[in-house]
Amino acid sequence: MVSAPSGAGKSTLCKLMLEEFPEISFSVSHTTRPPREGEVHGKDYFFIGKEAFEERIENNLWAEWARVHDNYYGTSLTFIRETLENGGSLLLDIDVQGARQITKAFPSAVTLFIMAPDLEILEKRLRSRGTDSEEAIEKRMKNAVNEIEQKDCYNHVIDNDDLETSKKQMAAIFKKELR
Ligand code: 5GP
Repeated sequence: MVSAPSGAGKSTLCKLMLEEFPEISFSVSHTTRPPREGEVHGKDYFFIGKEAFEERIENNLWAEWARVHDNYYGTSLTFIRETLENGGSLLLDIDVQGARQITKAFPSAVTLFIMAPDLEILEKRLRSRGTDSEEAIEKRMKNAVNEIEQKDCYNHVIDNDDLETSKKQMAAIFKKELR
């Protein structure tokens, strides 16, 4: 399970890990947030409506779900169960609230937190991404501070100052944990 404040480079690092460890399946989350440019339904996220999401909450179909930045995000329980039952490994890109729920339900899950160098750089990265409104950036920054405060609950923490170094550190953790 990988968590990080928005803009810390988590998506890039997760993609690199999935290339390096093809035996790991990515758990494609469901979200009610609109797709960003270039995002593909079924690959980056399953983009669904608020009502459909809430119906699945009522029917207990989420392994975990959370409201992040005013949108719902959730992990399919069926997908997790089926992958684990077939002996597979999973990579989940989820927020701190979700990671806590998964750890409770699946105590052997491994958690990794990616830190951005500092908040100023984080904000700069979010702005340069150009996909979020001013209001959304403010929310993401507030959320980042809150998430960083909880990083010590994670099994591993990586400071993403330099992508190559972080990639090596992350690969070493994956190798160790996959054994
Ligand atoms: P973004 O909108 O930037 O793709 O993601 C916002 C936040 O939602 C990130 O911290 C990401 O890790 C988190 N997230 C993505 N999918 C899930 C999910 O299925 N469950 C939870 N709890 N968080 C998620």
